[in-house]
Amino acid sequence: MASLSQASGKDKAKQLRQRIDASVDSLAKAVDDVRASETFQRFLEVQARFHKYSWHNCFLICMQRPDATQVAGYRTWQKLGRQVCKGERGIMIFAPRPFKREVEHENGDTEKVEGIYFRAVHVFDVAQTDGEDLPTVDVPTIEAAADGLLASLERVCVNRGVKLDYGKLDGGRYGVSKRGTVEVDNSHPTGQQAKTLAHELAHEALHWEDKGPFTRSLAELEAESVAYVVCLHFGLDTEVRSSRYIALWDGDSKALRASLERIANTARDIIDDVEALGARKAVA
Ligand SMILES: [Zn+2]
Repeated sequence: MASLSQASGKDKAKQLRQRIDASVDSLAKAVDDVRASETFQRFLEVQARFHKYSWHNCFLICMQRPDATQVAGYRTWQKLGRQVCKGERGIMIFAPRPFKREVEHENGDTEKVEGIYFRAVHVFDVAQTDGEDLPTVDVPTIEAAADGLLASLERVCVNRGVKLDYGKLDGGRYGVSKRGTVEVDNSHPTGQQAKTLAHELAHEALHWEDKGPFTRSLAELEAESVAYVVCLHFGLDTEVRSSRYIALWDGDSKALRASLERIANTARDIIDDVEALGARKAVA
């Protein structure tokens, strides 16, 4: 009898894995579709015009205008169809300027010298400008209710010794993982909260310093994919939000497939926990 139940357990695990692989495949396709869309391409073109500032300049921007979100020079804003509003004071940063100079030595020889000097320039935050809207990629909040799934994921938290705090988060954040504690913004519908909680549980399981090197982009891709797989398994489809979120974090189908094992194993563990703790069944 033991071998029979072992065999059926193995079958069940195999079926679950096939189902997870199929979910990741369909998410990968959706992410590539987002990336190929005209809106996303236009968004990338505009983003490319925003300079990546050095940490020193980021510090200067932050000191002078802590709420700055998108910063560019006067002329860049004009090229983007926006004007700096009258009376706005610029944010001072230092722009590197390469120079070449000929130096004459006492013996009459000349030498070409190259270097960089820094010049103070002024940039402006988007809030100081007016004009055409910048293209954005909308990452819609999940409007569906999923009270049962949310309650199940709460039990998974308790079972894993992860403290869960609900509240209103700032800075447009929906959730945060703090190793041992996760916070979820509960001003959204319960479907969104369930998706957020699954996402933060994935960060808890995968993304702490001792769990290997990874970039923020990769961590977001993995956590969102896990959340998508878990939610879909229990009948909550988060594809529109999840695919755009992953595309905005620079993910694509190749990166998703490269992380398949980590995504599949983490999603399986959460699904197993939900089913063991709450007898919640997958939606066929
Ligand atoms: Zn995240």
